[in-house]
Amino acid sequence: MPAIIASQAIDIQPSWKTEFSQCVSSIDELLACLQLKPGQLATSHQAARDFPLRVPRPFIERMEVGNPNDPLLAQVLPVLQETQPAVGFSSDPLEETRHNPVPGIVHKYGNRLLLIVSPSCAINCRYCFRRHFPYQENRQNKEQWQQALLYIGKSKEINEVIFSGGDPLAANDSFLGWLAEQIANIPHIKRLRIHSRLPVVIPSRIDESFLSWATATRLVPIMVLHINHGNEINPSVADMVQKLSAKGMLVLNQTVLLKGVNDSSEVLAQLSESLYDIGVTPYYLHLLDPVAGASHFDISQQRALQIYAQLQGELPGFLVPKLVREIPGEKSKTLMAKKKI
Ligand SMILES: *Cc1c(COP(=O)(O)O)cnc(C)c1O
Ligand code: SF4
Repeated sequence: MPAIIASQAIDIQPSWKTEFSQCVSSIDELLACLQLKPGQLATSHQAARDFPLRVPRPFIERMEVGNPNDPLLAQVLPVLQETQPAVGFSSDPLEETRHNPVPGIVHKYGNRLLLIVSPSCAINCRYCFRRHFPYQENRQNKEQWQQALLYIGKSKEINEVIFSGGDPLAANDSFLGWLAEQIANIPHIKRLRIHSRLPVVIPSRIDESFLSWATATRLVPIMVLHINHGNEINPSVADMVQKLSAKGMLVLNQTVLLKGVNDSSEVLAQLSESLYDIGVTPYYLHLLDPVAGASHFDISQQRALQIYAQLQGELPGFLVPKLVREIPGEKSKTLMAKKKI
């Protein structure tokens, strides 16, 4: 089909792809961008070899120059503590590999499942619970996706499919559009949810091409962003959300509670307020999953509940995210019990 070949040949690379490919991947370069000296931080090249440093420039622009304790920097900087073993922190804390019925699917909860659509991310978050996920075994082409689609077709109890990863939006729009169409052909699926951090760190990801496939089928599209700190929100992020909302998409946010990033009610209240201002509803506040290499972000459950109780005093109920943790074997995320502190 020569027409298709011709149109591919003149296809201009979308601008998000350029930003995706121009990420900073060296500790020294990142520190230089922020005018910090290597001696000011306990960085680790070993940690960066285990899980590469990767951070898009539009995200670095939101960091405070000269601040070694910047909450955005802390999320991406490989540090010495990552290389020290910590009791209770493992490589598969959620036992996801046990719920991997066919390649590409994680099915743990009754009526919804995750599709591991893309193994890569624009940003490598040091606390990520999937940093050790066997993506190589879950990498696949369109033919292999048929197996996953058959599984969804057979599983009549499922009414919602979640594009996950890695980061699903690291995949090409042509592939994502194809996959969405295939899923829309399965009558019992009603909703398509996209869990992505990419539009936060590279807002240009939400372009016409994305919007056209995401709204092309009968499936109701829902976007769940991942923002951990109010400083991640800038005018480009606000514009990006506006584009989603203009198409009628529900836009939610999930946050991970992280020591040194957002472990105070003031920071979390500020985040919820800023989310509201740009039209995003806070959804989940996750307790850190005990993944090897992330113990330096951990806070005790008691401290988490204390922060949460304070947060409830500082926000209207509709801006308080649900405090949850993931317990292997449970049928949903587990809501943390409210305790008197
Ligand atoms: C979080 C998660 C979901 C979605 O859960 P919701 O509570 O509906 O947001 C689905 N599957 C897996 C494996 C998950 O971890
Ligand atoms: S999956 Fe999400 S949390 Fe993990 S590295 Fe990618 S963007 Fe960060």
